Amino acid sequence: MDAAFSLLAVNFVIAQIFVLVFGVVAFKGPSRGSGLGFAAAFAVASLSAVCEALIPLTGHVRFFAIGAFVTMFGGFCLLARSITRHYGLRVPNSVFWLLFVSGVFTDFLIYDLPRGTVVHSVAYQTPFFLTMALSAVAVYRSGRRSGADMVLFSMLALSAAFFPLKAYVAVAVGAGGTAGGYLFSKFALVSQGLGAVLIVATGLAMVGVFVKEAIEDAVAKSDIDPLSGIFNRRGFARRVAPRLERANETAAGALILADIDHFKRINDSFGHHVGDIVIQTFARVLREAAPTDAEVARIGGEEFAIYIPAINSELARECAYNIRGAMSAVGFGQLCDNERITASFGVASIFGGDTLERAMQRADTALYAAKAAGRDQVQLAGPQALAS
Ligand code: GH3
Ligand code: MG
Ligand code: MG
Repeated sequence: MDAAFSLLAVNFVIAQIFVLVFGVVAFKGPSRGSGLGFAAAFAVASLSAVCEALIPLTGHVRFFAIGAFVTMFGGFCLLARSITRHYGLRVPNSVFWLLFVSGVFTDFLIYDLPRGTVVHSVAYQTPFFLTMALSAVAVYRSGRRSGADMVLFSMLALSAAFFPLKAYVAVAVGAGGTAGGYLFSKFALVSQGLGAVLIVATGLAMVGVFVKEAIEDAVAKSDIDPLSGIFNRRGFARRVAPRLERANETAAGALILADIDHFKRINDSFGHHVGDIVIQTFARVLREAAPTDAEVARIGGEEFAIYIPAINSELARECAYNIRGAMSAVGFGQLCDNERITASFGVASIFGGDTLERAMQRADTALYAAKAAGRDQVQLAGPQALAS
């Protein structure tokens, strides 16, 4: 009996730790809904240990035995709902309600049947099996195959398999005969022990998934410029540099650098806030005017870069002209005393074996030439610059 109580206490404490961990995930991480769902699942399931402990302590066997089932299975339904949602499998809430209500109803029906029989064991374990199998299917069907996702899938599949195995073992070795007897049976000890191991493993796997996603989210955010919403220099380099390394055809695209003309004057005359609006507006215009397969970024204060794959220098120059036209056509009205704001452009063709750094230098030289020649124009990097 002491061993049974110890296990129940351990299971309860473990579940509370997960409630805490998933609560932190919900309030500090990027997946609030999923974090709360998991915290709720563990909180509800942990009440099952309390119910089981109260069976021998209070003598209200039927009430607490059914309570133990309702709370444990409720936790499993919440867990399955959170996992299916997190992995994008659309399962209506009604399915989980139906599963929960039919599971509880079945438990009522079989309550007076002797434990350890085939009918009781199969009817008792099947609802649990269904929730875990549904969760495993959701992870698998999502197509996510990172290490963390695969560990979670394995744990869910193992947990799903655990329930039919439990039904079989209950029949083979007996499960205590009655609800009261169950708590002190060897079966209960092994079942609770193994169940605890699987729940800890599944909970840790889910924490692993959240950690992986939080890191991915942070990396993605660090690639984005918060003012303009487009890539920053780092995000641009991380996407474009490997593509240049892989490119080995004669023309591997073009790089365009754009710099707003006399921007300092805009800041000085109309204020930093207006300067920010000009940067945001030009970033939007750039994104709209650039080809759909182009990568656009804000690589400095009022400097932008555009990488266009598989395009020759003539077309790239045409593209730069279009962007220049679109930018200079933006009217800022009263904001800038109707002043026309323009930008200058440097275009460099990229060739097989090129690096982003070298292409940037060539485009920058062309941009400098555009500024020197009077601004509001496009210059193509010359052949001498190409050779450097
Ligand atoms: P040019 O035509 O030669 O390019 O002249 P310019 O005034 O545009 O060039 P310069 O590089 O001297 O000025 C860039 C200015 O951009 C200086 C800096 O204060 C301002 N700047 C940099 N980042 C931001 C920003 O995030 N917001 C605003 N409003 N201004 C910024
Ligand atoms: Mg400038
Ligand atoms: Mg500048």
